[in-house]
Amino acid sequence: MSGTHSQASPAAASNSPPAGSATRVAVVGAGIAGLACARELTRHGLEVTVFEKSRGVGGRMATRRTDTGARFDHGAQYFTVRDETFQQVVSEWLEAGVVTRWDGRICSLADGKPEPKEQVIPRYVGTPGMNSACKHLAEGIHIHLQARIETVERIDDRWRLRDTEGAERGLFDAFLTTAPAPQSAALLAAAPHLQKSAQSVTMHGCWPAMLTFDRRLEVDFDGAFVDHSPLSWIARNSNKPERTGMPDSWVLHASPRWTTEQLEQPSEQVLAQMLEAFWQATGHRSVKPSYSTVHRWRYAIPPEPLTQSCLFDHELKMGAAGDWCNGPRVEGAYLSGIALAAAVQNDQTSALDTTPLEGA
Ligand SMILES: Cc1cc2nc3c(=O)[nH]c(=O)nc-3n(C[C@H](O)[C@H](O)[C@H](O)COP(=O)(O)OP(=O)(O)OC[C@H]3O[C@@H](n4cnc5c(N)ncnc54)[C@H](O)[C@@H]3O)c2cc1C
Repeated sequence: MSGTHSQASPAAASNSPPAGSATRVAVVGAGIAGLACARELTRHGLEVTVFEKSRGVGGRMATRRTDTGARFDHGAQYFTVRDETFQQVVSEWLEAGVVTRWDGRICSLADGKPEPKEQVIPRYVGTPGMNSACKHLAEGIHIHLQARIETVERIDDRWRLRDTEGAERGLFDAFLTTAPAPQSAALLAAAPHLQKSAQSVTMHGCWPAMLTFDRRLEVDFDGAFVDHSPLSWIARNSNKPERTGMPDSWVLHASPRWTTEQLEQPSEQVLAQMLEAFWQATGHRSVKPSYSTVHRWRYAIPPEPLTQSCLFDHELKMGAAGDWCNGPRVEGAYLSGIALAAAVQNDQTSALDTTPLEGA
């Protein structure tokens, strides 16, 4: 990854001077929406800094590595393409080798009976992990990792950011957030109409479980949508393309309803129940996993996103993007990030237009 994708200290962030007279833009979130937005703005000569609270990029297009050699996609499982702009980008990613088509054997599963599922449109996965496309997008972008932004204050006509330690993270002409809706709402207090829109979006949680087995399970599919179960999806992660050299590895997703009921339960209890549901759904005899863990996505999927491609206030130069604006999938998040970049650029080219706008 490029040298500009860095983990800089707070002091370095706040002291870095603006390059010439370029507009300085802060973007919260290095998921696909934030990275798409940052890349587009950087390409047009704006000085963009991304702040990401985690240790790496990708957001919910997440890949976790373990000491056992297994890698798990515990967020997004695959993505599909319907939009032409996104198709062009995916073609570039295919050429760069950071995604590939996944023709896995997918079925639906009710009470142990697998029914093959017809593949209507191609499914794609990141290679070697789901976060690979995001790592690719992050190249050349100025990113501060492990930087959780907590406050955004108006200082004259600019935005001052502070992190959770209270450290100043710089002054910016524009502030954009691509965090999930409830986390974005907390950062949009200075623009109550945008904050209200973000607050109106509910996000369901998801408990994923990650498992490896010393002996390959006798299960005859690669992924399954599960009915009548605490689980909604199971996948043999190690059978996805370019996941060679790892033990038999599985990802299970708990259903939104079950996750809501169990969201605050201890992880050991959640794991035990998900394992039990796995044996029941597959009809396989129960086997002790060689590795097992769960992760809690508090904000996984917005079942009813807004119908605006993004939010942007031209006067305040404050905006938001993400799957919760445009559609609860990877494609929707990417397109929302691009729409937000276009709104900021329009603002640059038509400085006379000061009408507040929601949705680009
Ligand atoms: C379990 C699960 C399964 C899914 N399955 C699929 C699927 O199969 N197909 C599909 O297309 N989509 C799927 N999705 C949805 C898809 O992952 C998302 O739509 C997409 O990745 C959202 O991207 P985003 O950039 O909008 O948000 P995110 O990826 O959530 O990025 C937002 C980023 O903001 C960061 N952040 C938050 N608050 C702050 C802060 N205060 N300061 C700094 N950083 C902050 C977060 O750490 C995160 O990295 C799934 C999601 C989950 C969780």
